[in-house]
Amino acid sequence: MKVITYYGYTDGSGEYYIVIDAEKCNSCGECISACPQEALQMEDMFIDLEDKPVAAVTEDHRKKIRYTCSPCKPEENSMPCIKSCKKNAISCIWKPL
Ligand code: SF4
Ligand code: SF4
Repeated sequence: MKVITYYGYTDGSGEYYIVIDAEKCNSCGECISACPQEALQMEDMFIDLEDKPVAAVTEDHRKKIRYTCSPCKPEENSMPCIKSCKKNAISCIWKPL
């Protein structure tokens, strides 16, 4: 079962989403340590009939992700969360207008 979560926004300036694939996530927590903004946490998701801890953007940062993630420079593909994930469970959609 595909469980993919999108955290971000679409507005007049374009689109920005952090995308987390719960199936690929192995709950290692590396991205949480790597994020300089402390924007990530583990959250239980109900997958394949059991609760599995999966990386997620914190409730607080979901509302202001534009500001939270802007120092990470997605245009240079140098986002610590993505680079830290050996399972390739995190990706980013970034389409400025
Ligand atoms: S680094 Fe990747 S595999 Fe590890 S918790 Fe984060 S998203 Fe999951
Ligand atoms: S892009 Fe940067 S601030 Fe945003 S979740 Fe990833 S590491 Fe954290």
